[in-house]
Amino acid sequence: MKVFNTLTRKKEEFVPVQEGKVGMYVCGPTVYNYIHIGNARPMIVFDTVRRYFEYKGYDVNYVSNFTDVDDKIIKKAMEEGVDASVISERFIEECKKDMEGLNVKPASIHPKATEEIGGMIQMIQTLIEKGHAYEVDGTVYFKTRSFKEYGKLSKKNIDDLEAGHRDIKVRGEEGKQDPLDFVLWKPKKEGEPAWESPWGEGRPGWHIECSEMSKKYIGDTIDIHAGGEDLIFPHHENEIAQSEACNDEPFANYWMHNAFLNIDGEKMSKSAGNFFTVREISEKYPLQVIRFFMLSAHYRSPLNFSDTLVESSKNGLERILTAIDNLKDAAASNTGTLTETDRANLEKVQELVKKYEAAMEDDFNTADAIAAIFEMVKLANITAKDGSQEYAQKLLETLEKLCDILGIITEKEEELLDADIEALIEERQAARKAKNFARADEIRNQLAEQGIILKDTREGVKWTRA
Ligand code: AMP
Ligand code: ZN
Repeated sequence: MKVFNTLTRKKEEFVPVQEGKVGMYVCGPTVYNYIHIGNARPMIVFDTVRRYFEYKGYDVNYVSNFTDVDDKIIKKAMEEGVDASVISERFIEECKKDMEGLNVKPASIHPKATEEIGGMIQMIQTLIEKGHAYEVDGTVYFKTRSFKEYGKLSKKNIDDLEAGHRDIKVRGEEGKQDPLDFVLWKPKKEGEPAWESPWGEGRPGWHIECSEMSKKYIGDTIDIHAGGEDLIFPHHENEIAQSEACNDEPFANYWMHNAFLNIDGEKMSKSAGNFFTVREISEKYPLQVIRFFMLSAHYRSPLNFSDTLVESSKNGLERILTAIDNLKDAAASNTGTLTETDRANLEKVQELVKKYEAAMEDDFNTADAIAAIFEMVKLANITAKDGSQEYAQKLLETLEKLCDILGIITEKEEELLDADIEALIEERQAARKAKNFARADEIRNQLAEQGIILKDTREGVKWTRA
């Protein structure tokens, strides 16, 4: 399997630290607002990478953090007159709902920065002891020039960086020995959340959060570190400096970065104001369509968001789902075992599976993998009706497996919801028995909103879809 490594700017054969296992860390969002669909791109892309590794039989330890202490969170908390944790907890929950809608699997663990402060303090202490960091009036800085390989990820030359920094004096950072040094720990300001530390009350810098959480939950050397390409510098460059200076081990063997989701050729971002939240978009398109749209391009290619392109993804996805529905019908109503023709067709199916796998093994080329799925759909449309039951079943299983790697849900929504409907009806019956008619009506209304009509009959409650 080949992975493009930002560190070497080459596609490299993937060799895990531990055979059969993958430890990957994906920088997560700062939680002060709903996530926008740009933020959703790394979530979808790296969830697909994870799913492919799992398909190949790897045991994946997928760690993705929530940055829940940050200037923007604090600002929002002050505006609302609440504690910063109220804001971060609210948007962690909202983010998880969006991830679920996008069929992004929950990480093996989603550490929160505020729950990992102790480990960060320990790392900072080690860096001070090793001469890579220093404290001035409650602020601890990383001594950038003490890490000889600084710039190796972003390919920046430290002297050029120094020249660029010469005139920039940030208020409150006058104690820096070198303009290139960056903050590991900052002292408390009035009204801000803070933790005790050997340098007084304060809070960690952003970069040290990820260094610590990936060390704690995966190890000193991890297989893959990932995020959007805007994180290469300074965030990931600084993470490498901190982690390698602290641990004396290579930090991440492979660095993967997704390109931007653009709008009118510009990066979608909160600060530019040119964004749509996942929540907004979910009112216009099923989030499955958004996921499929994101995977229609290679993750290292910029992707422009436009209604025309999303509409085309919607049609493409529908074509796949219709073929799967037809295969399900064929698998239910066709008869018999494999014929000679079926066997010949299954060979073609296997060739397409190989094609799909070859695309995914070439640095996760989901665009080409989807092309292989479309070929399989075409074959299914031609052959399933006249094939045997066994053939339809085999083809169905194969196609569903390939879709599942991309996170495409192939079950019809109705099938997913039936159990929930039955459970609600049962709850309504219990409420009526207990004379809690308010709750019973609430459930009836809730179901009605989703187009489910209840009918009380002598045989019990019957339901239909409107
Ligand atoms: P942030 O909350 O800004 O730290 O972003 C969370 C993740 O989303 C990071 O991996 C960013 O690189 C990524 N990201 C932000 N904007 C975009 C965009 N327009 N396209 C792709 N990825 C993005
Ligand atoms: Zn990070």
